[in-house]
Amino acid sequence: MTRLPQVEPAPGMPAKVTVYEVGPRDGLQNESAIVPVEVKAQFVNRLVAAGLPAVEVTSFVHPRWVPQLADAEQLVDALDLDAADRMPVLVPNERGLERALAKGVREIAIFASATESFAARNLNRSMDEQYAMFEPVVRRALQEGLRVRGYLSMCFGDPWEGDVPVGQVVEAGRRLIELGCSELSLGDTIGVGTPGQVERLLAGLAEAGVGAEQVAVHFHDTYGQALANALTAMRCGVTVIDAAAGGLGGCPYAESATGNLATEDLVWQLHGMGVATGVDLPALIETSAWMAAQIGKQPASRVVTALAPNLT
Ligand code: MG
Repeated sequence: MTRLPQVEPAPGMPAKVTVYEVGPRDGLQNESAIVPVEVKAQFVNRLVAAGLPAVEVTSFVHPRWVPQLADAEQLVDALDLDAADRMPVLVPNERGLERALAKGVREIAIFASATESFAARNLNRSMDEQYAMFEPVVRRALQEGLRVRGYLSMCFGDPWEGDVPVGQVVEAGRRLIELGCSELSLGDTIGVGTPGQVERLLAGLAEAGVGAEQVAVHFHDTYGQALANALTAMRCGVTVIDAAAGGLGGCPYAESATGNLATEDLVWQLHGMGVATGVDLPALIETSAWMAAQIGKQPASRVVTALAPNLT
């Protein structure tokens, strides 16, 4: 039998947290291996079967930019998009939205930058121009009855600019909510943030009218801070936490093997504190161990590393 955490409720925690799984999109996008579409479909289905309520499936980005996800249409065709509460796809622009609508997607995510440097490099736009690009995408998506999540990257540090002022991140986040995003996912894209920054940013957003109930957090474990930052965010009222099964996805802007916070490590902490997630941890660990074998890599997740060899 797989070991499970001893349960001891921790003060100040929400009763329930939504684990927003990004492994199939953010994870596989940042792995060098190209995974066959049948394997991706099995991955998504196994994550849903393990009880994850939100699984970001893929990205309708141009295949030239992300060849790992060039099979977005085929993958969506192979899936039941009603299998989980939320099965969003990333769309970079209006063309991506058209592709998503043609496939009957019910939720999209857009990907904005909190810094000028990353907006220029990733979107080839200024920060102001990025809102102009996203405005028609969000408007059309809302008209079509879709839900829109807004990612904001480089919220806690930028590889070219260094420190990122809190006020600048608050203003960018506020503008994404103003566009019509119902959820704002704050990304620590290079994994450098610490708990004081998390508290300060969440307080700044709340002052600007963006409460914790509209916020999700997306931490990377590059500097070992992801779980501490997630715990801090939950103490501030955040109840949606992004994570990738097995810790899939290296860090795209740092020479490091560790990228996304591993879903198993987060779920271990949550279940230990008595916070409900709906996730079947042994089934999730088996899925991540299987996926790691598919891409020929050791899983970054500590929990998977500790327990996968004991699975029978
Ligand atoms: Mg990520």
